[in-house]
Amino acid sequence: MSDLHNRQHDPDAYALEGEGLSYWRDSAVVPQFLFQQLSSDQVADCVVVGGGVTGLNAALRLAGRHQRKVALLDSAYPGWGASGRSFGFCGLGGGFFMDASRQHKMIVKKLGEAEAIRFGQSQVQALAFLKASIRELGADAQIQGDGELVLAHSPAQAIALREQASFYASTLSVGADFLSSAHLLDHGMHHRGQQDHCLGGLHIKAGFGLHPLRYSMALATACHQAGADLYGQSDVIAISPERDGRVRVHTSLGSVLAKQVLVATNGYTSQRSAPSLAGCSLPVLAHALVTPPLSEARLQAQGWWSDVMTRDARRLPYFFRLLPGGRMLFGVYGGLWGSWDASRLGEEQFAPRLRAAFAQTFPAWADLEPSHFWSGLTSFHASGLPHIGPVAEMPGVWTAQGYHGRGMALGAWAGAQIADIMAAKRRYDALPLAFRMPLNAYPFPALQAWAMKAGLLALTTYDRWR
Ligand SMILES: Cc1cc2nc3c(=O)[nH]c(=O)nc-3n(C[C@H](O)[C@H](O)[C@H](O)COP(=O)(O)OP(=O)(O)OC[C@H]3O[C@@H](n4cnc5c(N)ncnc54)[C@H](O)[C@@H]3O)c2cc1C
Repeated sequence: MSDLHNRQHDPDAYALEGEGLSYWRDSAVVPQFLFQQLSSDQVADCVVVGGGVTGLNAALRLAGRHQRKVALLDSAYPGWGASGRSFGFCGLGGGFFMDASRQHKMIVKKLGEAEAIRFGQSQVQALAFLKASIRELGADAQIQGDGELVLAHSPAQAIALREQASFYASTLSVGADFLSSAHLLDHGMHHRGQQDHCLGGLHIKAGFGLHPLRYSMALATACHQAGADLYGQSDVIAISPERDGRVRVHTSLGSVLAKQVLVATNGYTSQRSAPSLAGCSLPVLAHALVTPPLSEARLQAQGWWSDVMTRDARRLPYFFRLLPGGRMLFGVYGGLWGSWDASRLGEEQFAPRLRAAFAQTFPAWADLEPSHFWSGLTSFHASGLPHIGPVAEMPGVWTAQGYHGRGMALGAWAGAQIADIMAAKRRYDALPLAFRMPLNAYPFPALQAWAMKAGLLALTTYDRWR
């Protein structure tokens, strides 16, 4: 990428060849021929900057349903960012708190009960949207599992999870059952939490697992078929207003002049391409490993054979799910013993730590050498809320971002919402207020990296004792 220094993390996090080979990249076809580099000056109705699930869904909707001439530009290629590296958990969430019930309480305090309910319901809609999108695309996205299991990693969390169960039914009309440790053992969900035995968990009956890169590639192909021009290797280095009210989007070799622009770069946002977005999104690393396929005997030895997507109740949870074909995926978001370091060295140091966490959770598989290890960036906002809206002081420019590591469903839905708004088919003020809160930069930019480290350390410590 041409402007590494205008992003907030270590340059290695943005290096085009730097993502490590994800299991997804190893098991999907990326039609690179669809993603030529932008090398001339073009005109379009709408430009989408960033080809993750947000940008691709927006581009598809604009080009297909709304018949706009669309150009989508990505620094690398569509799907290269978080969307193609995700753990593939499609569940409720999208705010600072992974648990919808805690997030609900936070929004009630800020915006009142009615808006908190609207926010929660939009997460349920996002899941339905994503499922319908996969079906309509005919994507071979390996949809898997029934809902999401949240495991208690400590006795205190087992009590908290039991208490949360009623929230899902009463507020979101989503079933949720607390499963005892005996039930987990009987149904192939035997793991070890902070204690030596499992302590039960909350089964939230919403969500599913998917192959995120195959979904992204199905979207990209559909965008192409709908007439959108997709450009790879096309890093946007500036967005400038023109006298006639249009906006020019510049790359180093070309530009696109358009009436409207969507910036959908989330955790990979450059400080240069959209200065008024600078410092609004805190990029937080997430890491994943995948094991070789596990034989039936190995699954039985550990006592885990369920395909339900699972995380624990930590503030910085462990995520795991048994993929089709018997490989186990295991991942974490930032904070685990210094995982904020995105440099090559940092990654090399972190991989064994992630493996140790995996071995502690699944002792019978402690000897397994992972076949894949990779990382990516998620985006956290100071408000603790995702954001959809106009970019301040840039008429015609919109953004959708900040899903706090839960953007597979919410990002896809947000992309479609913003496309309808840009096409004037939906009123902006019809969106739940939680998405429309002003996007504020984090205070004290120079201290941001340190503040992030301190915050992640605090959460890691909290998780050890709660
Ligand atoms: C390892 C990992 C695991 C995750 N697991 C889950 C999960 O299980 N469930 C879940 O819901 N969420 C998960 N997330 C979060 C989820 O992946 C993101 O919220 C979601 O993919 C965001 O999609 P997006 O389209 O907004 O951004 P991205 O997919 O990050 O796409 C942004 C794109 O913008 C491009 N870009 C950036 N700057 C420029 C520029 N200047 N010019 C042109 N292009 C640019 C990048 O190349 C990138 O392709 C995970 C994230 C990571 C990193």
